[in-house]
Amino acid sequence: MKIPKALERVVESFERLPGIGPKSAQRLGFYLLHVPQSDLEDFADALINLKKNTKMCAICFNIGTTELCDVCADPERDNGTICVVEDALDVLAFEKSDKYKGVYHVLHGVVDPLNSIGPDDIYIPQLMKRLKETENRGQVKEIIIATNPTMEGEATAMYIVKQLKAQNSELKITRIGRGLPVGADIEYADEVTLGRALEGRSEY
Ligand SMILES: [Zn+2]
Repeated sequence: MKIPKALERVVESFERLPGIGPKSAQRLGFYLLHVPQSDLEDFADALINLKKNTKMCAICFNIGTTELCDVCADPERDNGTICVVEDALDVLAFEKSDKYKGVYHVLHGVVDPLNSIGPDDIYIPQLMKRLKETENRGQVKEIIIATNPTMEGEATAMYIVKQLKAQNSELKITRIGRGLPVGADIEYADEVTLGRALEGRSEY
């Protein structure tokens, strides 16, 4: 049996999403056939406007609605401490922990040679550039590397540390860690664990 083209298109779109296999994609596609037309149109509308109505922050590459994200636009935040995270979702997690008063740099991924993602494919060059610019004003006091404690996260952290040290050997670079289980995802860590990991960071 061949499934209708319209349904196939939807299933294929779901299949391209992370963590969704062919079976789940099919299940979701068939499920949507039972959803009222108006809800489907709302869904489609939300997708169409997703990128139109969001902006990447010009400084830290966090996701927001204006040129500068809420964190970068906040004069109360400490610009001298930059926490480097994999995803904008990690920013949300840190903000929820309410322990961090510095600013962020969002990498939008990790170095992952197996999937041919190199340092220049994520926002590492932008981090270096940002530091070079602020460095001249002697602003940045500490870089906290908060990539996930996975193999790719660690490799990315090591790469960034090497680059940072080459650019400025005086810079204080720390790594969050304590309390975060190996292989864990920062995005899913609870506020208390994340707060502790931040407090218990160690210097490179
Ligand atoms: Zn920002």
